[in-house]
Amino acid sequence: MMDIVAPQENVVRVRFAPSPTGHLHVGGARTALYNYLYARKNNGIFVLRIEDTDAARSTRESYEGILRGMRWLGLEWDEGPDIDGPYGPYVQSARSVLYHSEADRLLREGAAYRCFCTASELDAMRAAQEARGEAPKYDGRCRARSAGAVEEKLAAGAPHVIRFMMPSGGETRFRDVVRGDFAFGNAELDDFVLIKSDGRPTYNYAVVVDDAHMRISHVIRGDDHISNTPRQVRLYDALGYRLPKFAHLPMILGADKTRLSKRHGATAIDAYRDLHYLSDAMVNYLALLGWSFDGKRELFTFKALIEAFSLKRVSSNPAVFDTGKMEWINAEHFKMLPPAEKLELVSEVLEEEGLLPPAFEVDLSRPVDLKLVAGTEPLRVDTIDAAKKSFARELPRLALIIEVLGNRLKLLRDVRELMGYFYTDDFHRDENAVRRHLASKETGSRLDALALAYENLQYFDRASVEETLRGLADRLGIESGELIHPCRVALTGKTVSPDIFWVITLLGKAKTVERLRAAAATAAAPTAPKDE
Ligand code: GLU
Repeated sequence: MMDIVAPQENVVRVRFAPSPTGHLHVGGARTALYNYLYARKNNGIFVLRIEDTDAARSTRESYEGILRGMRWLGLEWDEGPDIDGPYGPYVQSARSVLYHSEADRLLREGAAYRCFCTASELDAMRAAQEARGEAPKYDGRCRARSAGAVEEKLAAGAPHVIRFMMPSGGETRFRDVVRGDFAFGNAELDDFVLIKSDGRPTYNYAVVVDDAHMRISHVIRGDDHISNTPRQVRLYDALGYRLPKFAHLPMILGADKTRLSKRHGATAIDAYRDLHYLSDAMVNYLALLGWSFDGKRELFTFKALIEAFSLKRVSSNPAVFDTGKMEWINAEHFKMLPPAEKLELVSEVLEEEGLLPPAFEVDLSRPVDLKLVAGTEPLRVDTIDAAKKSFARELPRLALIIEVLGNRLKLLRDVRELMGYFYTDDFHRDENAVRRHLASKETGSRLDALALAYENLQYFDRASVEETLRGLADRLGIESGELIHPCRVALTGKTVSPDIFWVITLLGKAKTVERLRAAAATAAAPTAPKDE
């Protein structure tokens, strides 16, 4: 009978067991990921179990947010609340019959007892213990109650809890895969509550019943649960369940080496999704928070992580959350994306920013050939989401813009800053750049001349655009740079941009001429701010 609740040899079943009381945070996501990787690596099963025993703090919103966050990261579970499985239900509030029948068994076997102490009695007990300089702990006074006395109280409907009968002497030992051997004196562990007076199980109790009944082979979780583990180990023993293996993951710290919290900035996974991090980059970064492959390699695709992951390489030292490193990993993942995927992601961000469809139409004068840009893979516009068809006309130009930006585009959240001027006239202009480069009459007349030359250009392709500018500079007897710098500020509002001739080509004739003339007017105006 008892072996029903023992994990099977060599079958890996792991679980992520969040309480739906808040967001999916970095720490929880890292725990979920390690469980997921361990399951996939070992052809095991990844279970999602919702621990909603705290009815007051559990919310539907949090539950949905956690599932959404896990799906965004790609941590699909094999058994869980929404898909069920052989050991469901996977939400603790739906499992109370099991908790009560196991508690009854413990009562019958003398491993648990009913405690009728009131809140004020417990307060007085604690105060007396503190006054004596003792650590507060339930003193076991209800252990001695006779069966008859208990019956009487029950008949009178007296509120009570069910407590575990902790052995008063001896030690509880367990081995942790990451942290090694632990031993706790049982005298330090109290007769903790299994079932509260409202009939709900406590965390320490429900987690043991569920892990055993769900045949969990490895309990992989944050090391804040190490102090709970000896109580749980005692319960496994009393309930006759076989112990799973424990692996406690190191704490995650902020840059100031204190426990990662809101004080350090965003910790909710949703926030990173909203900042347009790539989910695979996020997974890669989370994997490194406490695990390393060989101390050197840091970049992994999701598939490579599954191959590479092992609990043996999980560190027992705290990990430090480093936003700079996360951004670097994100940039590296972005670089690796195929052009069609970049196009899709960038177009999503542009749309969200209200930049797509564009504020103005740009007619490129010659059909754009993506092979114009060195290193470009052939782009398959047909792979783009159907919803994007409304601005499908824009996609070849956007693909070129992305190519031309190259590695300048590292983080999707920079899309507006780096390419906004291709899509709207309402782009950010660097005031210093305007003051430095667009503040003389001379510049004004040069930009006017350039605008005229471009207006008269029949084919507005990159080669002709470059030839025109250099030809004008020759005629004016100036260096090309003396035209290029003000032209760049006029068109982009910045002193740095990708290849200016590509920028001009992709902005199109009409918009280029318009911005050059507007800048020329500003530069020539008597009120133009002077260089100090
Ligand atoms: N619900 C617990 C938590 O969110 C689960 C701990 C465990 O994995 O045992 O911390």
